[in-house]
Amino acid sequence: VFDLLVVGGGPAGAAAAIYSARKGIRTGVVSERFGGQVLDTMGIENFISVKETEGPKLAAALEQHVKEYEVDIMNLQRAAALVPGNDQVEIKLENGASLKAKTVVIATGARWRQMNVPGEDEYRNRGVAYCPHCDGPLFKGKRVAVIGGGNSGVEAAIDLAGIVAHVTLIEWDTKLRADAVLQRKLHSLPNVTVIMNAQTTEVTGDGNKVNGIRYNDRATGAPHHIELEGIFVQIGLLPNTDWLKGTVELSPRGEIEVDAYGRTSVPGVFAAGDVTTVPYKQIVIAMGEGSKAALSAFDHLIRITAP
Ligand code: FAD
Repeated sequence: VFDLLVVGGGPAGAAAAIYSARKGIRTGVVSERFGGQVLDTMGIENFISVKETEGPKLAAALEQHVKEYEVDIMNLQRAAALVPGNDQVEIKLENGASLKAKTVVIATGARWRQMNVPGEDEYRNRGVAYCPHCDGPLFKGKRVAVIGGGNSGVEAAIDLAGIVAHVTLIEWDTKLRADAVLQRKLHSLPNVTVIMNAQTTEVTGDGNKVNGIRYNDRATGAPHHIELEGIFVQIGLLPNTDWLKGTVELSPRGEIEVDAYGRTSVPGVFAAGDVTTVPYKQIVIAMGEGSKAALSAFDHLIRITAP
């Protein structure tokens, strides 16, 4: 039985594991992919006190730091269910195994939302991308679309406009939701076209890679096709909480509801990072929240465990 079991090995999970192990309690981390979203990013320039680093480098450093302590790391394992109990919580894994813990910190993060249109899966990494920071340079001098007119979509369009030949930003709504300052910047760029009120219907390709995108004008229903080489999907992050439905309380967006201590609706179960309702999904924030959740779990433990 673990004193504290962390589910997730991103910045939040790694921080929770280190804070827990430093209390001398039995700590485990079960994670599908140690490093989390950090593995998918290249340049990181806002990891405070480190001027510049790269995702894979930071992910390796996270794992190395955790391994400095007595932490049972269970990699490439996916949690499938959480079963609350009286004084123990059970985490059922997809492989059929089950882990028991007195306290749990959930740090399963989030993932990019997909368009769910024909061609999207087929052409992923063959023109369909979700990370402008990672894949932008691959489209140097080419034509791309950005799907989504929120902050992330408009930021991506501005970013890509500096690298690629042309950017078409496609927004479903009749207006962009991004901050005004970003919209002003976007509209000042000569190689960006903004199409609003458009329903993306299909990613087209030549069998090998993307060659265009189809959308319908939502006002007239008229179908259109744009020839291009890349599509960046920027329509939001989805918290990885499918496995928790019906156990811990989730927000309407599927994020785990936590209080200022990282407590969830289930006693002994804490949560941290992108998977929670805490705003601003960033590495330093996830690390701070993970540390906080572990300290809260420790505080919970010393109250429930007899001397
Ligand atoms: P995640 O990093 O998402 O980690 C979640 C962990 O949980 C992973 O180990 C995952 O495998 C595991 N997991 C998920 N489901 C399960 C399950 N069912 N069972 C077991 N394990 C599971 N932030 C910055 O501060 N600066 C940046 O420059 C920056 N750039 C970014 C660029 C990209 C392309 C992306 C995608 C994100 C970027 N971010 C950046 C955001 C930052 O990466 C996240 O805020 C941060 O990684 C969140 O940490 P986390 O630990 O909460 O979740």
